[in-house]
Amino acid sequence: MESRRRTFLKKLSLSALSLGMPLSTAWPKSFNLKRDPRKGINPWLEISKEAYLHNAAEISKIVKGKPILAVLKNNAYGIGDLEVAKILDNSPHIYGFALVKEKRCIALRDAGVEKPILLMGDFANDLGKALVNADITLSVFSEESIQKIYALQKDSIKKVKVQLYFDTGLGRMGIPYDRPLDWVIGLLKEDNIDITGIFSTLTSSTNFAKEQIERFDSISKKLGQMGIPIENRHIAPSSSLLELRTSHLDMVRPGILLHGSFPLLNMEYENQYTLKPTFKLKAKIIRVERLKKDDTIGFSRFYKVPGDQWIATIPIGWADGYSSAAENGARVLINDKLFNVINVNASHCNVVIGNEKVVEVGDVATMIGPEAPEITPKGFAQLIDGHTYLQINYKESLPKYVTDDFD
Ligand SMILES: *Cc1c(COP(=O)(O)O)cnc(C)c1O
Repeated sequence: MESRRRTFLKKLSLSALSLGMPLSTAWPKSFNLKRDPRKGINPWLEISKEAYLHNAAEISKIVKGKPILAVLKNNAYGIGDLEVAKILDNSPHIYGFALVKEKRCIALRDAGVEKPILLMGDFANDLGKALVNADITLSVFSEESIQKIYALQKDSIKKVKVQLYFDTGLGRMGIPYDRPLDWVIGLLKEDNIDITGIFSTLTSSTNFAKEQIERFDSISKKLGQMGIPIENRHIAPSSSLLELRTSHLDMVRPGILLHGSFPLLNMEYENQYTLKPTFKLKAKIIRVERLKKDDTIGFSRFYKVPGDQWIATIPIGWADGYSSAAENGARVLINDKLFNVINVNASHCNVVIGNEKVVEVGDVATMIGPEAPEITPKGFAQLIDGHTYLQINYKESLPKYVTDDFD
């Protein structure tokens, strides 16, 4: 095998030489991975600066100017945390960014992001110093995390910034709200620890969220009585920010609204506030073929061609994070027309073009975008009976192209 490969390479370089081509052209050593993804055929994301800045301004209107701590966890809901953070770093409505993976916090700083960054999750011990050096605010969310912060501040030259994370009823992260607050006094005694805020997370049940807010308020009061000035109190993800004015506190902490969707389908707020879809998911058609009646498509022979039909293949599938449920009714925009997705495999999907071959290999397919209601994140979710957070599954490896505005 190896020798055959060598012979092939030899032949290739000989033919390149005989054509007068420099060897590097015939056999490039490495490909430029940073090239414009729109020139390729494989799926890519286009991200609108204008849409992100618009959504930040719109949320600011909803919360009457309270600052926004933008949640960019899960690679900014699949869209690209570096790209989105760099855009929102320029928004006057954004106070800072909240993430759950320590390495991504550091990556944001390395990329030049200047606003405060809060790590809402845990960190590996060997990354503690790097986090402090990058000016990342850490969360105190459990007994073990308190011990970690103590150890970290001991040999840190810079002050360790922390926020206190309380569990008021989500039951997932945070120190239980009804536990005695002695641990806070311990933290306060350390000169090298700076408590910069307190937070919790509301559930989407409005009634219970009200109770959670009361629990949180009682903690704030107790901390106040202990002489601890707490400025940055935040508790509200997108749904409670919309539903409960009393959840706004000192700042709000939305994710999905920033990325352009309401947290649930068909919320009445859609008529009151306009969010803009912030991204497009695109790929190019790589095959158009006329299949015959009763031919089938897909490993499981999922789709049976009802009559002769032109079928296009697009190189995007569930391995890229495009929902496999798309085969249950999603649509795709090609040359200003919508077509039905009828099969999604790991790395390809198929679209019915119809009786006439109105698309060509190389045409761009917009899987998700603002161009038509059927392909917005909301429209897509409705067609496949899903929800508006589906883009969280997009692979980090999808190349991104940031544009000022979608035309
Ligand atoms: C995800 C998350 C948010 C944001 O939720 P959205 O519904 O996207 O607004 C806020 N706070 C915490 C702790 C989260 O995990």
